[in-house]
Amino acid sequence: MKNEQPSANESEATAPRHFIRQAIDRDRAAGKNEGRVITRFPPEPNGYLHIGHAKSICLNFGLAQEYGGRCHLRYDDTNPAAEDVEYVDAIEADVRWLGFDWGEHHYFASNYFEQLYTYAEELIENGKAYVCTLSPEVFKDYRGVPTRPGKESPSRNRPVAESLDLLRRMRSGEFADGEYVLRAKIDMASPNLHMRDPVLYRIKRFHHHRTGDQWCIYPMYDFAHCISDAIEGITHSICTLEFEVHRPLYDWILDNISVPCHPQQIEFARLNLSYTVMSKRRLLQLVQEGRVEGWDDPRMPTLCGMRRRGYPPAAIRQFCETIGVTKFDSTTEVELLEHCVRTDLNKHALRRMAVLDPIKVVITNFPDESERMVNAINNPEDEQAGTRPMAFTQEIYIERADFAEEPPPKYFRLAPGKSVRLRYAGFITCESVEKDEATGEIRALHCRWDPPETKVKVKATIHWVSATQSQQAEVRLYQRLFTVADPMEDKEREFTDFLNPDSLRVVEARVEPTLLEAAPGDAFQFERTGYFCADHKLSQPGQPVFNQVVALKA
Ligand code: ATP
Ligand code: MG
Repeated sequence: MKNEQPSANESEATAPRHFIRQAIDRDRAAGKNEGRVITRFPPEPNGYLHIGHAKSICLNFGLAQEYGGRCHLRYDDTNPAAEDVEYVDAIEADVRWLGFDWGEHHYFASNYFEQLYTYAEELIENGKAYVCTLSPEVFKDYRGVPTRPGKESPSRNRPVAESLDLLRRMRSGEFADGEYVLRAKIDMASPNLHMRDPVLYRIKRFHHHRTGDQWCIYPMYDFAHCISDAIEGITHSICTLEFEVHRPLYDWILDNISVPCHPQQIEFARLNLSYTVMSKRRLLQLVQEGRVEGWDDPRMPTLCGMRRRGYPPAAIRQFCETIGVTKFDSTTEVELLEHCVRTDLNKHALRRMAVLDPIKVVITNFPDESERMVNAINNPEDEQAGTRPMAFTQEIYIERADFAEEPPPKYFRLAPGKSVRLRYAGFITCESVEKDEATGEIRALHCRWDPPETKVKVKATIHWVSATQSQQAEVRLYQRLFTVADPMEDKEREFTDFLNPDSLRVVEARVEPTLLEAAPGDAFQFERTGYFCADHKLSQPGQPVFNQVVALKA
């Protein structure tokens, strides 16, 4: 996937025409922007990207690809308080991992600080902005409420020359933080509070991760964003619904300065997922309070967390395509994301056997030391994947849950006197149960074996590994991070009250020996238990640690 691709591709023909595609189609039909489609993804480098950002990335980069345009990666780094280069690097890695490429179009809003400042002077010169002395509290009071007009600041009619002089002195550091602000001169009676002479610049002595201490005034988002879009020649500035009320301001600013073009802002509903919190502030809180092991904890909804967990990027792209784009806020069930992950892994993941909670089975009629090789299918969904040999030996492990000493009704797996099929390796019938005399705990099951050719009537097939050939491996089993679908719903309580104490369980499993060769990122289906992926961080050469990606069934 690359920027600037030719436009006629399959997805264009089959993709549903959601309202943004329709808007672009109309623009192109009308010859607007000479038919160009230039979008941008504008993260604020104040945290790691999450699955909500993936929706925006897939939409912006996806549309650019579809229409043969391009998508810029632009850091919205106008608020140095919370920003960090750590996040900048992580964001790039995540966008690339998702499969997108910005080519040479990699920008920072801070690149435009000088230009933005020049436009601020232009607004003043045209009588469209003024330097205001109101303190933040008085400012708020003057702005008022939507149902009643606000009050004009005494600074509103300050002569142009005086505002220009003050802005220059603000820039040169003559004033204390917050002493003055630059405001647009729009309409204090507008029902839209964003149009009541909004602040465009504030004095804020902060070290910026790129411009250092060069600036002590910083532009507000609303001022910086639209102008950055215009400078870059963006045609469609796609953002989430909460910016809809900012659109009149976006347009007003661009209409009142001499920018080269006027991009169209289009809003869509952000992704909300059940059992998930998405805001970076809350994710940061989970990290800082040690509720998870970091931003890339496999339980986190961050892209780096999902990467470690083993979610294939193609599954995330498919998810984003499936949820579509609308104008209405809603919550998507997390099961849909898991379904996309499962569907992708089902096609691509090799099958292996791993016993997560082993109980030993001793085959009573098996000649000592002998071993019988069986052929196991690597992926029934993919003939090319072939088969592998598995050693069937006198002692094997099966899953503790696949045996019941006193089977409940309709229990079809192993029980005293009962038989099951071993995947690829015939049948076993339980003859006796060996227990620890002191504790009563089951030590081993003694079973008779019948080869696959035998006609044994069974209703279940279970997985197994050789006790002598299998290897030990750490497996990390996950459940949802929260116990409730909407951890934010109860306003009386902290969302962290709903953290699931059992979201991570670490077990020592017995696995097929070939699994020890797994490289970080390799994904497998452990037959009957789920999809698993070798962890990037915890795996050692020859000793992988497996994360459970997703269960086999919903
Ligand atoms: P958060 O609210 O999670 O802290 P943000 O909106 O502050 O996120 P930004 O870095 O400003 O994060 O977002 C970059 C882009 O991603 C913006 O265009 C924003 O609208 C979009 N985005 C953020 N969250 C979502 C979401 N849940 N669904 C869709 N798009 C999103
Ligand atoms: Mg933001």
